[in-house]
Amino acid sequence: MIDFELTPQLRMIKDGAHAIAESSFRPISRKYDEEEHTVAEELKPLAGLITGGMGDMTSKKKDKKKDPGAKKENRNGSTLLSVIGAEEMAWGDNGLMLAMPGSGLGNFAIQAVATPEQLERFGSKFAAMAITEPNSGSDSGSISTTAKQDGDEWVINGEKIFVTDGNQCDVIVVWATIDKAAGKAGIKSFIVEKDRAGCTVTKLEHKLGIRASDTASVVFEDCRIPKNNILGSSEIKTKTEGFKGVMKTFDSTRPMVGAIALGVARAAFEFTKKILEDEGYQFRYGLSKHKLVAVEKEILTMEAELEAIRLLIQRAAWMSDNGMHNAVEASMSKAKGGRMGSEITRRCVALLGPIGYSREWLVEKWMRDCKINDIYEGTQQIQQLIIARGILDYSKKELQ
Ligand SMILES: Cc1cc2nc3c(=O)[nH]c(=O)nc-3n(C[C@H](O)[C@H](O)[C@H](O)COP(=O)(O)OP(=O)(O)OC[C@H]3O[C@@H](n4cnc5c(N)ncnc54)[C@H](O)[C@@H]3O)c2cc1C
Repeated sequence: MIDFELTPQLRMIKDGAHAIAESSFRPISRKYDEEEHTVAEELKPLAGLITGGMGDMTSKKKDKKKDPGAKKENRNGSTLLSVIGAEEMAWGDNGLMLAMPGSGLGNFAIQAVATPEQLERFGSKFAAMAITEPNSGSDSGSISTTAKQDGDEWVINGEKIFVTDGNQCDVIVVWATIDKAAGKAGIKSFIVEKDRAGCTVTKLEHKLGIRASDTASVVFEDCRIPKNNILGSSEIKTKTEGFKGVMKTFDSTRPMVGAIALGVARAAFEFTKKILEDEGYQFRYGLSKHKLVAVEKEILTMEAELEAIRLLIQRAAWMSDNGMHNAVEASMSKAKGGRMGSEITRRCVALLGPIGYSREWLVEKWMRDCKINDIYEGTQQIQQLIIARGILDYSKKELQ
């Protein structure tokens, strides 16, 4: 049986996240857009709320404890809770949500693949995720940062760029190769504490949007971390594991990014619809399209798109929580969320004219903010390649 109603627990998460977004994010939204690189002190007291309340992003292990028959039964686990919470938080502010301690993309990576011991050590830390390098973006399998084992430690060397929360975070999940000759199979992820010697933030980007969240370049020079900071198993099976393991993190981070795009787009949509209603427009549901005036058609189409994005995201998250392989669905939800999020926010600016373009309101900001969700964690084009490969059963070599 299919049931699209939110359970009381999911409803509580949604309402709680919305309340935080409305009362804590919206009032300071413009301030931190204008004061880029200023740390939003207002967010610090909220840190516990996001990790403890909004879906408990570190709770995979706990989910299983609560629900030992998990594999056989339908589960609404931490991924679904997180995407529902994220939509609401991003409705408040995309940048502030990312800057909220504990809500970094690295947190989702840790949640996806950490051992119970690592979850214990790092589950409550604010974690950024560093994959991109000066010579490696979309083709993340070509990274050149290295991790060499030396006794009981790993020694990390390399440079990462465009690390979201790279300055404010406590730890960084760093992708590095342990064996260049093994190609992608040699890539693993490592948790590097920011205060380790040899880990240096070298640059902060000035950006179009999400200006409340810092984006940093980080250099690792003979940076030593304990042996058990390798994320996931410390066993090195370069020929069979490695890349597949690190790619698995995207199965939960991509629906999350889609959910963030959805939240921002919904904010712009709701604002636009309200302004138009206040101006006397009426939106007639149930009429055939040719009977609608142009503005009605736009509003109703955008509303339908928002619903479609939500369903895709929640399916991808639900699959993850129920142990199903969801790489294609995760990419679908991010591709649709990223593209339509950008399109809807742009349409809202257009529909509102001067109100859309003025900095007095937040619509122009939502348009700037939303664009990033179509870029990071794999661009629109890369998601489409992954989806096409999945549907057509092509290998990466056959379709690139
Ligand atoms: C604000 C911001 C925050 C970011 N945060 C993070 C972060 O936290 N961690 C992190 O690791 N990275 C982060 N990134 C980096 C981001 O993930 C990369 O920018 C993205 O993966 C694209 O890589 P690239 O910039 O090297 O572009 P390229 O890979 O050079 O791509 C350039 C263009 O070519 C297209 N393209 C590339 N390959 C193909 C192909 N095979 N077929 C068709 N089109 C293709 C791309 O879609 C894109 O449009 C961030 C970036 C920004 C701007």
